[in-house]
Amino acid sequence: MTDSTLVWFRNDLRLIDNPALIEACDSGNPIHFIYILDDSGKHSRPLGGAQRWWLHHSLAHLAEEISKRGGRLDLYRGDPEAILPHIVRDYGSNLIVWNRRYHAADIACDSAIKAKLEAEGHSVKSFNGTLIREPWTLASKTGGAFKVFTPFWRAARENHTAPAPLHAPKQFAASSKQPSHSALSLSDLALLPTKPNWAGKPNWAKGMAGSWVPGEKGALATLDTFIDNGFAGYSENRNRPDMPSTSRLSPYLRFGEISINYVWHASEMAVQSGRTSASSEDLRVFQSELGWREFSYYLLYHQPDISKINVQRRFDDFSWQNDPSSFQAWCRGQTGYPIVDAGMRELWQTGFMHNRVRMIVASFLIKHLRIDWRQGETWFWDTLLDADPASNPASWQWVAGSGADAAPFFRIFNPMLQGEKFDPEADYVRHYVPELARLSSKYIHAPWKASPVELAAAGIKLGSTYPRPIVDHDTARNSALAAFKALTLYT
Ligand SMILES: Cc1cc2nc3c(=O)[nH]c(=O)nc-3n(C[C@H](O)[C@H](O)[C@H](O)COP(=O)(O)OP(=O)(O)OC[C@H]3O[C@@H](n4cnc5c(N)ncnc54)[C@H](O)[C@@H]3O)c2cc1C
Repeated sequence: MTDSTLVWFRNDLRLIDNPALIEACDSGNPIHFIYILDDSGKHSRPLGGAQRWWLHHSLAHLAEEISKRGGRLDLYRGDPEAILPHIVRDYGSNLIVWNRRYHAADIACDSAIKAKLEAEGHSVKSFNGTLIREPWTLASKTGGAFKVFTPFWRAARENHTAPAPLHAPKQFAASSKQPSHSALSLSDLALLPTKPNWAGKPNWAKGMAGSWVPGEKGALATLDTFIDNGFAGYSENRNRPDMPSTSRLSPYLRFGEISINYVWHASEMAVQSGRTSASSEDLRVFQSELGWREFSYYLLYHQPDISKINVQRRFDDFSWQNDPSSFQAWCRGQTGYPIVDAGMRELWQTGFMHNRVRMIVASFLIKHLRIDWRQGETWFWDTLLDADPASNPASWQWVAGSGADAAPFFRIFNPMLQGEKFDPEADYVRHYVPELARLSSKYIHAPWKASPVELAAAGIKLGSTYPRPIVDHDTARNSALAAFKALTLYT
């Protein structure tokens, strides 16, 4: 067997601070680089449409960066458990390296592959390239899994500093061996939308293509922009969708185009060196948001079916409504509640939504419309660029009140007040709901309260140019509370 090392890229599409990659370089062997698109549905949840678009561009970028250093990224599609052993034999690799995954189905897949390869005499090494603390390293004082964020995060940080990021290799000792006949071109993976090409639809403001640069270079630039422009004041401003006040790093973190250690260190160094005027409070709050990502992975590890099953099982009896037309109005940003509609349109147009608005739209779906959180979670899974197997279901369950350390169900967001508080001049609403742009800030978060004269002056015809609210806030709120009360009475 020719000595060579095989790097299997998964959710770690980067060269900087990639421990599996460094191990491959240290092996001194020629290196094969592969990515396997797993659409089998047997292990990882198949990617949604927006993520497939992102992945296409991210793989293109990774392939280019590998090639600049003398290597080649080979692409495959299939069930890794079935095809990886063949690929390894094909290349004649004696060492296989990867960074670990945390969903039970992925862990089972990786363990089965490892056992098979080791039985055939190959070495397999895996690394932590995704989290500050891997879930199995943390348990509560009683030995059980943490269910509440604060003690989890305290324990995660105790006696632990994020290791300094590893450098990107400058050059690869590439293998001259050509890929097997089953290696594919990027276009063969068919990741881009075609019918319709919603990623760059000309009638949308910019489309995803105009809003994002997937890949490691884009990740580093996004982090730089955040450190220089949004970081100072983050603790106060991160709730403002009308300001560029959050990092927008989530899709990059989701695909591992930047490592959590890198973000952690860069943010800390920026404060310590005075590069930013961000305060220690800004840093603390930012790092604690990274902690919510860690907590979500911890929950996913302990409850792999978190996207399907209520963490608090009493919610299994909740009286959800089957209401396809309201669901469609929500998806399309046509609910008649401007802040909700702005968020849903931001999502459709750019593949992203600000965190505060995610909470508002999710609360609206679950509580005002009483539509099962799983329907909303699935829509987000398909349309969010950062759709994450851990953070998406954990956050939906958090809003629903059914999750771990969740917001109580009876805390129901008032969309008008949320709009007035977090989008005070309505810049965000005006941008994504342009048909309301000429309405004064006084009424823009509740256009039905404006007089006919004011509406006419702003060119708005309720029910025609912009919908009337699909539900009345007070009525919907009372129904939701009654449904919740019934749940608590009977469970
Ligand atoms: C209903 C709902 C669904 C969500 N779905 C996802 C999802 O699929 N993928 C995802 O990454 N985040 C999800 N979030 C969490 C959060 O909204 C996004 O991480 C955040 O908006 C990303 O923007 P940012 O990178 O500018 O965040 P920043 O405020 O700059 O935060 C930095 C990083 O911390 C992490 N983070 C921040 N807030 C959270 C949080 N509440 N939970 C977990 N991680 C967090 C993200 O990795 C983020 O990039 C969801 C939240 C809600 C309410």
